[in-house]
Amino acid sequence: MTCNDYKDLLMGYLDGELSEGQKQELEKHLQTCSACREELESFRKLIAITDEVTLLEPEDKLWELYWGGIYNRIERSLGWMLFGIAAIALLIYGGFETVKALVKDPTIGIILKIGICAMIGGLVILFVSVLRERLFFWNHDRYKDVRR
Ligand SMILES: [Zn+2]
Repeated sequence: MTCNDYKDLLMGYLDGELSEGQKQELEKHLQTCSACREELESFRKLIAITDEVTLLEPEDKLWELYWGGIYNRIERSLGWMLFGIAAIALLIYGGFETVKALVKDPTIGIILKIGICAMIGGLVILFVSVLRERLFFWNHDRYKDVRR
């Protein structure tokens, strides 16, 4: 038997699947061949690592963390989007109603009317701007996370 033949037996040896004859022959060879002893050692380490990995189930943990993060992000951005859209809609509606009432009201001076209209318009623009900024940063956060 050559070293390669013995190397084929090593995994079976560690799993206890060899016949008594094969086992004795391999053990005899291991006493004289350091290359095969090293191979056996590296197999042992591999099995130890594999056992550890199976025990901790890090893949599950990683996926949990990964999806947890993604889910949080989607949830938050959805929250922001709904909030933003609702706020803008309410502001536009409320602003429109206010402007209508203002224009009809003869007791309010023209300067005050223009001032209030401008203020409402400014608020709407601010809300749209803040929301766009949030969405922009959310997009960039995603790439930061991927790199980590
Ligand atoms: Zn050998």
